Amino acid sequence: MALYLMLCDYSPYHGPDRWVWGHDNSENFTVASIKRIAELIGRAVPEYQFVWNSYVPKKVGIVPWRALLERLPTRVALTARSVNIGDTSCVLCGDYEETSEHLFVSCQFAQSVWLVMAQWCKSPPVIAFSLRDILDAHMFLPGSKKKKKVFGAISHVVIWSLWKMRNEVLFGEANPSVSKVVEESKSMSYHWVKNRSKSSHWSWGEGCSFNLVM
Ligand SMILES: [Zn+2]
Repeated sequence: MALYLMLCDYSPYHGPDRWVWGHDNSENFTVASIKRIAELIGRAVPEYQFVWNSYVPKKVGIVPWRALLERLPTRVALTARSVNIGDTSCVLCGDYEETSEHLFVSCQFAQSVWLVMAQWCKSPPVIAFSLRDILDAHMFLPGSKKKKKVFGAISHVVIWSLWKMRNEVLFGEANPSVSKVVEESKSMSYHWVKNRSKSSHWSWGEGCSFNLVM
């Protein structure tokens, strides 16, 4: 009788079986819902959260993400993991120890690249004391949300290209070249952002200048 009472108001679902995620109103699984649950059960929230940028491929975003966690195999990081490589100096300038912060922020080579890229974007020079400053710089630039996202994408491409140049120099495939990193950063930023942002109004202006209308 008790079972009958429980079932009499039940209406079975007549469609095909499907998976449902019960922790989001959409009934679809989302990473955001997992984060919400983790926060509710007291999981520690990281002090700084890396924001992935969908205008560039994952293979590009993974470089700044790993750099932020000091998980790129820089010479200092390898030494800290007991890999005996002897020289820990920066392969691009040779003046300081090669950490991620140095390679992408304080190295004279990187600073020259950031300066030219800022001029190309018609934005003020990037004043950065840490990798976080570089990754957050686009948020303080004028313009629409989408334009800021484009600037953020460009910064990821520059970091990816700097790391690529560092590897080419390390393995004897190239000499350090600011212009090579700059040209690659410009062309690949344009290519990826143009193709991945569905409503980008970015034209390859005269002299390959940065011409973004948003
Ligand atoms: Zn350096």
